[in-house]
Amino acid sequence: MKFNKKLESIKTYEAGKPIELVVREFGIDPKNIIKLASNENPYGCSQKVKDAVVDIIPKMALYPDDSMIKLKNALSNRYKVKNENIIIGSGSDQVIEFAIHAKASSESKILINSVTFAMYEIYAKHVGAQIIRTDSQHHDLNEFYKLYLEEKPEIIFLCTPNNPTGDAIDSKELFDFISKIDSDTLVIVDGAYMEYAIGKDASKKVDPKELIEKFDNVLYLGTFSKAYGLGGMRVGYGISNSKIIEELYKLRPPFNITTLSLEAASVALSDEEFVNKCIISNFQEMKRYEEFAKEQKIDIIKSYTNFVTLCLNNRHKSSLIAQELLEKGMIVRDLSGYGMNALRVTIGKKEQNDRFFELLTEII
Ligand SMILES: *Cc1c(COP(=O)(O)O)cnc(C)c1O
Repeated sequence: MKFNKKLESIKTYEAGKPIELVVREFGIDPKNIIKLASNENPYGCSQKVKDAVVDIIPKMALYPDDSMIKLKNALSNRYKVKNENIIIGSGSDQVIEFAIHAKASSESKILINSVTFAMYEIYAKHVGAQIIRTDSQHHDLNEFYKLYLEEKPEIIFLCTPNNPTGDAIDSKELFDFISKIDSDTLVIVDGAYMEYAIGKDASKKVDPKELIEKFDNVLYLGTFSKAYGLGGMRVGYGISNSKIIEELYKLRPPFNITTLSLEAASVALSDEEFVNKCIISNFQEMKRYEEFAKEQKIDIIKSYTNFVTLCLNNRHKSSLIAQELLEKGMIVRDLSGYGMNALRVTIGKKEQNDRFFELLTEII
């Protein structure tokens, strides 16, 4: 059977290996498997969220509220924007998909960082758009600007903090950069880890309200999958100028968010205390990763997220080490597919991190 030619160059996205797969492949007891591969919140989600989801179960027979009014109100209250500035996606992934389909075509170019979130390229390929990458591993906005002038991209992605490197763009530099971009180029600021960045360094804070007040060509993305601990619920959002939101809405399938997910996300926003506690623990544990790396003479990239990127020296191959860890029940992300000899490790709970240190020391 013949398929759409655009699919030929697409590699299926390899998500962090699920625990179930390691159980089947290596026969390890699920109790002894630790997954530090997908930047999920190791502390789970707020108890208030769990209670609210149980309470909403009787409504499961009905279609969800497609206006998503409760969640939109909660988000507009959090960010001080209007409901017309918000679109909700099945993960912010889906909002990325809407945005690329809305703006790009097979004649378009999309400018991204050399190492960044893999889904930008996959969705770009759906529409046959060409991906342009910078050279430097960290967002170098001078290089972005040079390539913007040369290539005239339709869309520019800025992922801050960046996945899978963990570094973040200085907020002032980001605003200066966007002010130099013409209003017909869509700038997408992916803030999937913004809650963590704010917890570490205020100069990295990008406020979506300020963004959309200053610029009418910017789409800000946020998600409930990381700091809020709701990866399994699949809820993310885009904040932008109402005209852009209107266009994205044309691509949204009806009922794209389930009743349970809408409820979970709305309630999650009301328990700031839970998220703040997780962020504090995250950075306490991150210190231990930094000390471990120093002891082991492994380079670690300064991270503003809930993961660290360990750059191995040429005596160790990250793909082999990730495989050895996997066989011992420790799932981390090998970054060789991104052209880096590095491991991305989600910061877990204390005992999980202890186990990682122990296993990695054993292997290297
Ligand atoms: C996790 C992540 C997302 C989206 O996650 P969803 O679960 O689809 O909301 C988007 N961008 C980056 C950089 C991420 O790491």
